[in-house]
Amino acid sequence: MFEHIERVPGDAILGLIEAFKKDTNPRKVDLGVGVYRDAHGNTPVLKSVKAAEERLLEQEETKSYIGSHGDPAYGNAILSLVLGEGSPLLTDKRASATQSPGGTGALRLAADFIRTNLPGKAIWMSNPTWPNHHGIFDAAGIERHSYPYVSASNTLDFDGMMDSLGRIPEGDIVLLHACCHNPSGFDLDKQQWQQVLNVVKQRNLMPLIDFAYQGFGDGLDEDAYGVRLLAEQLDEVIITSSCSKNFGLYRERTGCLILVAKNEEQMNNVRSQVAIVARENYSNPPSHGAAVVSTILGDEALRGMWLEEVDDMRGRINQLRSGFVDAMAPHGLAEKFDFIKQQRGMFSYTGLSRDQVERLRNDYSIYMVSSGRANVAGLSSDVLEYVAQAIADVSD
Ligand code: PMP
Repeated sequence: MFEHIERVPGDAILGLIEAFKKDTNPRKVDLGVGVYRDAHGNTPVLKSVKAAEERLLEQEETKSYIGSHGDPAYGNAILSLVLGEGSPLLTDKRASATQSPGGTGALRLAADFIRTNLPGKAIWMSNPTWPNHHGIFDAAGIERHSYPYVSASNTLDFDGMMDSLGRIPEGDIVLLHACCHNPSGFDLDKQQWQQVLNVVKQRNLMPLIDFAYQGFGDGLDEDAYGVRLLAEQLDEVIITSSCSKNFGLYRERTGCLILVAKNEEQMNNVRSQVAIVARENYSNPPSHGAAVVSTILGDEALRGMWLEEVDDMRGRINQLRSGFVDAMAPHGLAEKFDFIKQQRGMFSYTGLSRDQVERLRNDYSIYMVSSGRANVAGLSSDVLEYVAQAIADVSD
């Protein structure tokens, strides 16, 4: 029965990783893969995570099932992190948290929840968006559409976005990136979030906010601006959160689905439905990553250590953004690339064409995704000049 099954091409990024590994050029630079890198090109385990793991190793008493919603201590810690300490949504018991296998798992929970509980609703996502958004909602059988987000001249197309959102059928779902838009790096400012809130209210849309990079843009609270605005001003919001980047827990699969409902009773109703979706997908979430996170967030010293580590990661990314633009100055291209400083998060749409990306790879061993998306964290002060020179060369 397997005879007719064709091989499909692997993930483009995986191909890029392979090609990079095989490249023998000592000057090679990897700007492709979507993980944080330190100045030495490593993705280390955070010190706060190591310390929490040591504690857990000693104190963990059981490997018994954790329950479909996961550990309540983790859920509460994520609710405070995402919605804000002392948020009225928490005192009013309007928010439910379900521990999930990564942000991806939270998105799949959201998708299955939507399919079974909001049947017939379509989802609208930015063009471009993280490609897995397409796959996850397709797999759940949800009709998918897009709204404009990046213009042909590589700027945020906010007018196009608003125009499109204003015409979405009432009651449909709109997927928004909370911060650090992947792949473009273009984020909404406070005024623009307010306008999004207005159109969501007007059209009675259901926002699904993907929050995968909290702390990587302007700060943990700053990055939550749009999430908190919508969650506080609307009756109902869906949020998916990930600890992969800000806790560096990628492979531990640590995320959370948050549902905000109109009141405590409705919150408990939707929460009961999420438990079913989780049970049918994987029964219980993996425990370790979430236990690490709740240990860190629940301990003053570990929390302080982690806050510093998040600040360091964010600081490094933003420094590299300015450093890159400065390195373009001797080539007369600082102004052209100034937008890199305004973008936020690990990723940048550089505006480089497919052809230019290919030349960078073939002639300079600089690897990025063919869309021109670069992982800024893959840069370091040692390679800035080399990369700037190469980009200047292919920009002729
Ligand atoms: N959403 C976006 C926009 C992402 O970029 C990612 C990670 N690449 C995720 C969600 C999911 O992250 P994870 O499943 O690794 O927590």
